[in-house]
Amino acid sequence: MSQARFQFHGELNDFLPRGKRFTTIDYPFNWRASIKDMIESHGIPHCEVDVIVVNGHCVDFGYLVCDADQIQVYPSMASAPLHPTLRLRPLYPGRPRFILDIHLGRLAAYLRMIGFDSLWRNDYEDPELARVAHDEQRILLSRDIGLLKRSLVTYGYFVRHIYPRERIREIIQRFDLSRHMEPFKHCMKCNGMLRPVAKPSLVARLPQEIFHLYDDFHICTSCERIYWKGSHYRRMVGLIEELAAV
Ligand SMILES: [Zn+2]
Repeated sequence: MSQARFQFHGELNDFLPRGKRFTTIDYPFNWRASIKDMIESHGIPHCEVDVIVVNGHCVDFGYLVCDADQIQVYPSMASAPLHPTLRLRPLYPGRPRFILDIHLGRLAAYLRMIGFDSLWRNDYEDPELARVAHDEQRILLSRDIGLLKRSLVTYGYFVRHIYPRERIREIIQRFDLSRHMEPFKHCMKCNGMLRPVAKPSLVARLPQEIFHLYDDFHICTSCERIYWKGSHYRRMVGLIEELAAV
C-alpha cells in the first residue's frame, strides 16, 4: 500500500470534516490516480484549487500521485503575485460574469442589481450549467459539490453562506466586486440590459399614480419590465451603498 501526505490550505478546509481541518492527512492508496481525483475524493471540487505543490514543485491536475509524496494544496490566490505558470488555470479574464444553480435565484438577482451579468433559470440541468459556464467562460456559483466537480467547469465556486444577504457579501468579497459595481444596468428579473425610456410611451402600461409621481423610467430590453425610482428603488440604493462598503 502506498501513502501520500496532504495538507490543504485556507478555505479548502471548509470542505473537510472538522477533525481533519488545518492538519496533515495521510492518504493510503493502491491504485494509480491523478492528483485531481485524489483531491476531489476529499470532497474538494477542483475549481476551488489554484496551486498544487508536490515535494516542493508545482504540478498540474494530471500529475500521478506517488508513494511518500508530500502534497500542499492551495485555494484561490488571485491577489498573490504568482508566476502564471504556477497556477492551475489563468486568472479569470476581465469583468466577472456568472451562472448560478437553481438554489441561488436571490443571489442572481442581487448580482444583477449591482451590475454583473448573471445567468439563472429554475430549469437549468447540471450538464447545461457546466456547458454554458465552459462555453461562455462564466464563473459557476453553486451549492452542489458534484456539479462543481464536473470537468467542464473551469471557474467555479461553492457558495458557503445560507442567507441571500450574506451570500451577496460573500461573493463581493471573494471576487473583489465592490470596485466594479454598476447598479441598475441589468434587469433583476431576467438579466437583460436596461435602457432609459421616454415617459409618454408608458402611459398605457403604468398605473396612473406611478405615471404621475415619477419622471425617470427604465425598461428591460429583453422582458420589457419597467423600473422607476419608487420605494423599492430607495431600499435597493440603501443596500447597494452597504454592499459597496464590503
Ligand atoms: Zn428583464
